[in-house]
Formats: sequence, structure tokens, C-alpha cells
Amino acid sequence: MRYYSDNFLLVLPQNIAIDNQDTFAYVPILDVLKAWLSHSDVLNAVLSDYRLHPRQNSMLCDMFDATAANECQGFKDLNCLQLLLYFDDFEVGNPIGSKRGKYKLFAVYFTILNIPIKYRSKLENMHLVLLATSKHIVTHGLDVIFAPVLKDIQKLMSSGIDVSVDGIQHHFTGRLAFVCADNLAANKVAGFTQNFSQGRVCRFCVATRGEICNLHLESMCKLRTHQMHESHLKATYTGRQVSLLSVWSDKCLSLLVFKRL
Ligand SMILES: [Zn+2]
Repeated sequence: MRYYSDNFLLVLPQNIAIDNQDTFAYVPILDVLKAWLSHSDVLNAVLSDYRLHPRQNSMLCDMFDATAANECQGFKDLNCLQLLLYFDDFEVGNPIGSKRGKYKLFAVYFTILNIPIKYRSKLENMHLVLLATSKHIVTHGLDVIFAPVLKDIQKLMSSGIDVSVDGIQHHFTGRLAFVCADNLAANKVAGFTQNFSQGRVCRFCVATRGEICNLHLESMCKLRTHQMHESHLKATYTGRQVSLLSVWSDKCLSLLVFKRL
């Protein structure tokens, strides 16, 4: 492994200690990005910006077709890497055996949305970020596990990275553009409570469990806005409120709300 990391662009995972006995593996995002962008074909794909070519139809084919992407300046910057983060648990043992759950792992991957869609689903463009035992997430919480990820994303947002290819220096910043997760994990990382049986159960609107059965159109709902969510997060962080419309003080990726581009 040492030979490959010294002579090739292999980024080795770091073993990060949570306490005296529990650890998880983290593959540094910034090092992976530098190694990945140092391939001239990747760099050209990122810098060519396929988004400049207008679509022939009005179909929504990509997240850049959405209104939010057009309104946000961060999406338009060519040297701003758009990170898509996705995570889930998976079972490596027999899922119906007596040891079910014992070896369950929590995995986080990322991909960069700046490359054309046809390359995004290829395995070589999906990068492992971290691997942790699922029971450690329950014991220690996502905040601890996501700490190195958050630190690197915040560094990417503020100072960025420099990549040198064929003697030319390129500077890239980045932002977390999209998070793909199941309902439970999405609520957790966005700073919402994980209770779907009572209270405000929806991430998109402020409907209660009782009301939601009678709401059939988006126009019938009072939608949450970015500003609203940000003010709720601030209120919970400062300790003025423990929970506000199902937003609570578990930080995780919701911290990035304050650092948006
Ligand atoms: Zn809703």
C-alpha cells in the first residue's frame, strides 16, 4: 500500500479514534479531490462546463435544471466544485441470521456534479469518504463521525485547493450542493428531529402528523424556507430553544447552512 501511495495517486484512509476503543476510517476529501483533479481528462471535463450547452427540451434532467441552481451564484462558478454526498447503512453479514446488525456499516460517498451526467454514475468517479460501524453512530452520534468531513468541506468552501496539471496551477473552491439519503438520515444531518409519529414530521413544510393526511397539494402546505430553517437552527444553537418546529440542536451538516455560498 505504501508503494502505491508513494508512486501513484492513492489516498489512504485515516483511522480516527472516537474514544479509547472505537474508531472509524476517513478518506480525506481534499486529498482525494487533488488526486482526482490532477488527471488531465477529469480536469478538462470539470472546466469544460457542460452546463453551458442549453438543453434541447424543457425536461428536468439534472439538478442544474432546477430553479434553485439558477438562483444560486455558487452553482454558476466554474471553479466551484459541487459536492454530492450520499450515505447509508449496509449489512456485510447474513441479513437474516442471528448476527444481524453486528457487522452493519455506515458508509459515506461523494461525487462531483461538475462533470457530465454520463460520467457521474461510473464507479471511478464515486469516492469513499468514510466507513464506520453503525453501532458507533448510535453510541456516539453523527456529529462525531462527520466532524472531519465538515472540517474539510468548510476548508474547501473558504480557502479551497490548488491543483497543478501540466505546469498550470488551478484553484478550486467547493460547496456541498446535494445530500442524498433516506428519510431518517436526511432528517438527522439537516438538524431535524427523527420522530415521524408525532409533531412536525416533514422536512419540507411545517405540517403536523395530524394535518398531513389532509394535505394533498404543495400549495396547501406552509413550506419551510432557507431563511426560516436558518433562524430555527440559530435559535437552537444559542440555546434559546431546545427544539423549534422539529429543528433541534444536533449540528452535523446543518452547520453548513451558515456557510452557504
Ligand atoms: Zn410536507
